[in-house]
Amino acid sequence: MHCNPFQKILSFAIVKTVAIIGAGVAGLASAAYLARAGFKVKVFEKNNFPGGRCAAFVKDGHRFDIGATLLMMPQVYERMFADFGKNFYESLDLLRMNPVYRLWYPDGLALDFSSDLMRMQEQMERIEPGSYGRFLQYMGQSFEAYKVSMKHIIDRNYSNIFQFINPINLIRLYRLNAFGNHYRLASKYFRHENLRTAFTFQNIYVGQNPFHAPAIFSMLPFMELTDGVFFPVGGMNKISEALEGIAMENGVEIRYRTEVARIVIANHRPHPVPPPIWGREPGKGLATGVEMTDGSFLPADIVLANADLPYIYQELLPPGPALKRINRLGYTCSALVFHWGMDAVLPGLEQHNVFVSNDYRENISAVFDGNGIAPEPSFYVHSPARADRTAAPEGQDSVSVIVPVGHLKMAGLYDGKTLRRQTEYRNHEPGIANSPANCQLPTVNWNNVIEQARASVLARLAKEGIPDVEKHIKFEKVYNPEIWQNLFNLSRGATFGSLNHNLMQMGYFRPHNQHGKYRNLFFTGGSTHPGNGVPLTLISARLAAEKIIQQYGER
Ligand SMILES: Cc1cc2nc3c(=O)[nH]c(=O)nc-3n(C[C@H](O)[C@H](O)[C@H](O)COP(=O)(O)OP(=O)(O)OC[C@H]3O[C@@H](n4cnc5c(N)ncnc54)[C@H](O)[C@@H]3O)c2cc1C
Repeated sequence: MHCNPFQKILSFAIVKTVAIIGAGVAGLASAAYLARAGFKVKVFEKNNFPGGRCAAFVKDGHRFDIGATLLMMPQVYERMFADFGKNFYESLDLLRMNPVYRLWYPDGLALDFSSDLMRMQEQMERIEPGSYGRFLQYMGQSFEAYKVSMKHIIDRNYSNIFQFINPINLIRLYRLNAFGNHYRLASKYFRHENLRTAFTFQNIYVGQNPFHAPAIFSMLPFMELTDGVFFPVGGMNKISEALEGIAMENGVEIRYRTEVARIVIANHRPHPVPPPIWGREPGKGLATGVEMTDGSFLPADIVLANADLPYIYQELLPPGPALKRINRLGYTCSALVFHWGMDAVLPGLEQHNVFVSNDYRENISAVFDGNGIAPEPSFYVHSPARADRTAAPEGQDSVSVIVPVGHLKMAGLYDGKTLRRQTEYRNHEPGIANSPANCQLPTVNWNNVIEQARASVLARLAKEGIPDVEKHIKFEKVYNPEIWQNLFNLSRGATFGSLNHNLMQMGYFRPHNQHGKYRNLFFTGGSTHPGNGVPLTLISARLAAEKIIQQYGER
């Protein structure tokens, strides 16, 4: 900063106000870190609940997780809680999932994906003799990918490109097959399509195509089997509620139902720090605060945006060259999510189930390269009441079905100019049932797409010996890509990101957590470094807070 030593001491002595846009997990976690460091922190959240995509809604005694359902990388949560003097395992009532999930194949076979190695051996050898030994080798190389990625790519801030691109890192990436694709890597270890699918479909969690995703993502199945997958009794929202509690204990003020309409920029003074590749725009300017949709203004010394990064550039900042780059980036897929309140318990399901359809490649391609949905899509079923009886009334069930679909632009629903407000915004809060009136789009008949997907899911469940599901549905709530876009301001309704993790959107190449021009504007959340999924957004929150504390000092 250009200031004399006295001004510098004065500026460090004055408590700085941070305005945070969004109370997603990353917004809440970064708020807690900053408040603990002595900043005055105010969080503004458009919806009336904490946690964003890690929230739940309850209807007639049935509870549904809106987004995240698998608690992976528990050590990241453990670290976050420990940073605030709390024991993660004592703060939540955690259940370890075993199996992690059941994979239901189109040929009638099933695989319980499990940390119990005897069980894996017995099942895998039945599918492909000799595969268990190769599975152990695959796990060995995935462990390397995991270790190296955590240390050298994920859990660190970058200040220059050479920290990412240097001979040692390139050799590391090459050795880990980072330049090959995940499916091809799995194919070297397994011949049977069922096993290739079992060890690659996890890419879809992070909205990626396994046929294009870097092979380094072999760390996903590794993490599931070794670190374990957990589920908090009461739902994944328990994590968001715990984070909200930690933030408030540290003095954070959270205002719900408060939507930020604009980040106000004043052309004040240039900043001496050379901007990184992200947002490299000449000129000057500082964020002076945030303006709400009701016209009120909150002045702030620092603005930290947790809302989806592309949306921030598209909607809340003055237009600039960075916007063009943002629009050219790769986005994750979207999803149709059915939440069903059932009057009976569905038989045969595990808590997490993946139903793989015929022709895995074609199926994936329809989502990522085609017009949005496969004729017989693969899908995921979450039935939390298997392990957590609080999820549904006694003798009943709460079932969520996630069907991956293309994002709005891919599905031809995006005109390239207006990303949101294509339809009048309506209240899609948890607990408020959708109706055709508020799901309907002018550009696509979502009812038709939903009907097709529902029919296909029901037919597949019936084929697997789970008949008459429709008969037992008491109520249904559906989230389509438009709703994802409007509910959380996710660019293109790309639910799992919005930005994806291709090689050119990882590490230093992923949008940074500080704006290149407005140096008091920071970012945190799934579309920033290191990426999406609850654990990575928690890391993103810590890294963004560290950067702010480094720049402004602990109070
Ligand atoms: C269907 C689905 C399944 C998933 N499954 C898993 C899983 O099993 N495991 C896992 O780890 N992850 C999973 N994820 C991903 C995970 O949920 C997200 O990566 C994570 O919750 C993102 O957190 P965030 O804080 O970055 O963003 P968000 O949760 O999107 O939070 C951003 C917040 O900003 C608010 N906001 C936006 N615009 C404004 C504005 N103008 N003013 C005020 N507030 C605003 C939004 O309402 C939102 O609350 C899943 C996601 C989805 C959608």
